Amino acid sequence: MGVPPMDGSRAGCPCHVPAGKGFCKILHIPAITAGHRRCTAARLRLACAALLLLLALPATAAVSLLDTYYSPRNRVRPVRPSTRFIILHTTEGGVKGAGEKLARYGEAHYMIDEAGRIYRIIDRKRVAYHCGRSMWNGRTALDSCSIGIEMVGHHNKDLTAAQYRALRELLAELKRIYKVPDNRILTHSMVAYGAPNQWQPRSHRGRKRCAMRMALNSVRARFGVMSKPASDPDVAAGRLVVADAELQRLLYSRDGSRAAIARYTATESNVIGPGRSAWDVARDAYNSADTIYIMPNGTRKTGKEIVNWRTIPSGTRVIIGEGDINPVEKVQSLAPGQAPSSIAGAEWNSARTVYLLPGRKWLRGDELTQKQAARLPPGTQILVGYRIDGPITARRPAFEICGLGWNEPDTYYLMPDGSLAAGSTVDPAKIPAGTMVLFKN
Ligand SMILES: [Zn+2]
Repeated sequence: MGVPPMDGSRAGCPCHVPAGKGFCKILHIPAITAGHRRCTAARLRLACAALLLLLALPATAAVSLLDTYYSPRNRVRPVRPSTRFIILHTTEGGVKGAGEKLARYGEAHYMIDEAGRIYRIIDRKRVAYHCGRSMWNGRTALDSCSIGIEMVGHHNKDLTAAQYRALRELLAELKRIYKVPDNRILTHSMVAYGAPNQWQPRSHRGRKRCAMRMALNSVRARFGVMSKPASDPDVAAGRLVVADAELQRLLYSRDGSRAAIARYTATESNVIGPGRSAWDVARDAYNSADTIYIMPNGTRKTGKEIVNWRTIPSGTRVIIGEGDINPVEKVQSLAPGQAPSSIAGAEWNSARTVYLLPGRKWLRGDELTQKQAARLPPGTQILVGYRIDGPITARRPAFEICGLGWNEPDTYYLMPDGSLAAGSTVDPAKIPAGTMVLFKN
């Protein structure tokens, strides 16, 4: 059967089941709960009591975990205050490349490979950065209240039988621990949203196709999840618009039919052409250094090197880099004569678009008139889909203002001298009083 082998180095399990020979039903439930700490005699007694309980209850699946890709980021990640969601992902790349990247950046709690082996990346109690810009039912920044599971594979391909088995077991255990109902087990494609870009004038759903098949009822049933949301609450409430109607139909189709996938994959292509932009092909990885554009004349450019997205010739082939990417959001600057709407789209005058003027003055979009917007000086920096709050004081530290995302690479600090620093580079003990913080929300 598809029970993954135990990891001998970390199991610390006094039942002495040899690696690869099976697993200890008593101890693996405490093991996942307690993070593989060495069991003490007291714990063993507890475990025996748990076994008696287990014998009296319907069988609960036990899960064994590998630490091959255990992340060095665990040390610095805060404990998550609540767990309301479980978010499913597809790596869009192979186990080694994806595992190494997920570990390096601490981008998931678990990864399940094609053989059904479950790797622990970030301790399930801590925060992993797996959702990027995300929203569900008005709640944003879902990393602070969710567990992320990466399936090795692609958004448009089926999982293996071993992956289904392993995911079912892992979810059963996580649901037992956190009481997450089935309709809050969501795919990344359901919760990801994008701020306006050159193709989308508004904040939109459709930033990711990640794990889209896992929204289908027929697929969910195979990993033991029997219900899902009937519709997208943020689109219904007008907080977001739909940027990919076919994807939206697929995510919320009631029949869970293969036809939905077939229809979608038939229209997917990695070639830019009439009606198919770089964004249509690569979504939020369009401007990534890992995305390669091969023009019809053989010229190759990375997404980072392309400046004018409207001049990419028809017939350009796009190769998207390995790994499910949540790119770090960059600060954009106004060029001479450039209108803010060419960066912030229809949300140029939103309270969630922030303008940093040369010097240290800043304005929110809703504080700008059209006339003022047209006269913003070149070099004005723009953050779309951000809130600005502060100032930071001894009594109101960054953590109080923007929560667990205070040290994310795309949380920005506007220092008293007018300079801007990324959250990943600031020392919380040394942030000067008066600093403002800009964060995705
Ligand atoms: Zn994802």
